[in-house]
Amino acid sequence: IPVDEFDLVIFGGTGDLARRKILPGLYRRFRSGQMPEGARIIGAARADQDSAAYRKMIQDAIEEFVPEKSRDSESIAEFIKLLEYIPIDATGEGGWKELAAMVRKEVVKAFYFSVGPSLFGDLAERLHKYGIADDQSRLVVEKPFGRDLDSAKALNAVLAQHFDESQIYRIDHYLGKETVQNLMAVRFGNILFEPLWNSQYVDHIQITAAETVAVGSRGAYYDKSGAMRDMVQNHLMQLLCLIAMEPPNEFEPDAVRDEKLKVIRALDPVAQSDIVRGQYSGNADGPSYVEEAENPDSKTECFVAMKVNISNWRWKGTPIYLRTGKRLRARESEIAVVFKDPPHSIFGEQDGRRGNVLVIRLQPNEGMNLRVTIKEPGPGGMRLMEVPLDMSFAEALGPDAEDVPDAYERLIMDVIRGNQTLFMRGDEVEAAWAWTDPIIKGWTERGDKPKLYDPGSSGPEDALMLLHKDGRRWREIK
Ligand code: NAD
Repeated sequence: IPVDEFDLVIFGGTGDLARRKILPGLYRRFRSGQMPEGARIIGAARADQDSAAYRKMIQDAIEEFVPEKSRDSESIAEFIKLLEYIPIDATGEGGWKELAAMVRKEVVKAFYFSVGPSLFGDLAERLHKYGIADDQSRLVVEKPFGRDLDSAKALNAVLAQHFDESQIYRIDHYLGKETVQNLMAVRFGNILFEPLWNSQYVDHIQITAAETVAVGSRGAYYDKSGAMRDMVQNHLMQLLCLIAMEPPNEFEPDAVRDEKLKVIRALDPVAQSDIVRGQYSGNADGPSYVEEAENPDSKTECFVAMKVNISNWRWKGTPIYLRTGKRLRARESEIAVVFKDPPHSIFGEQDGRRGNVLVIRLQPNEGMNLRVTIKEPGPGGMRLMEVPLDMSFAEALGPDAEDVPDAYERLIMDVIRGNQTLFMRGDEVEAAWAWTDPIIKGWTERGDKPKLYDPGSSGPEDALMLLHKDGRRWREIK
């Protein structure tokens, strides 16, 4: 889908996120011919430098963060010609007049707030005061969107002073992943799945986002948030919404977001006995969580597993288990829909049949597979075995597999197109915090200390028990 000519201003354009994700993503779109003639990208940040220095900085970033196969020096040289830089002070007046003079009136204008949320208000106000933004301009804001309901409401209120909800694009990069959108295509583009997509046929759902990395040097910062705020309230909740929502009547931003919001509002409060929190211990390969957090008494979790129930007609009785953590055995994110067994087995008890599971894999190797039972080939009688029906993108796309757009490049292009479907609406974010707040308050008031787990494991023992006591088991992280 073509995009219009645009001016994209990236506040925080010299930061880690801009250099690692935003600009490499834009470059990849440029290289694949998606960037219109006359597109312009303006970095605005604190560093006092000129556009030439900025172009060099971004050239280096592209060389560092875009795989060699997906870049070439000719297109990099062309791409960086689109870049300009303005030193700006978000909380003062320096640089704003220059920015106002530079941004064009007649093109799509997008402002990416790749800075801490404490600056959102200052930026929104100055964009307005200097006549840079108009009622067609778009704002892109990064996570974290608040740390509880009150702070999220305050951020929404600050943005709402100068911008309408239809102009605000709250990024959750999980929503930009190819597989996540494919989940909607599979659910709503086929007749096969939707009739089975309910508590009558689905035993339970598991959503896992396992990381191998530790909190490392970000430990002290991370310790103020924890896995519930950093991963569950946003990314896992978004996945849960997409997997559980009713079919929207059209694939339009508010139709989709209305359905997601209904799911969040239907979530039951979670009993503390249905939550397991963890912290990794140290070993020869690295320090423990509390050491990295520089807080020996830390009660912040870097692992959380929980059982979630949705009180509506479709899902009553089908639990959704969420799990995420750092320094686990493998880097793996997936959603697994585990179907019930057939009502009666005509083959008697057989080991080979383990039931249908639809796995939607976000990383690594984005793709989906459906586990089905077939007859073991050969003359050995009616013996059953399981095989995956594999829908892996890497295979389907062949040598172009690497060119599956990264989540950020897709989302930024959606901003320019003015499509909010894959962005969180303000009321969604608030509803998610309204559900999360009492859970966090519960364990904070009890003063619970997270359980220790071995680095490289799949989390604390108690997390296994969470499913065992329901007669279920987690899929292996491998
Ligand atoms: P960073 O510290 O690397 O960069 C911050 C940027 O903001 C710099 O360009 C700096 O010049 C600019 N800045 C700071 N104060 C300013 C001021 N007063 N006026 C003008 N510019 C100012 O931060 P980052 O890691 O790039 O993160 C940016 C935002 O994105 C944060 O809100 C962060 O939580 C969020 N985020 C980052 C990541 C990531 O992977 N880095 C991931 C998700 C969300």
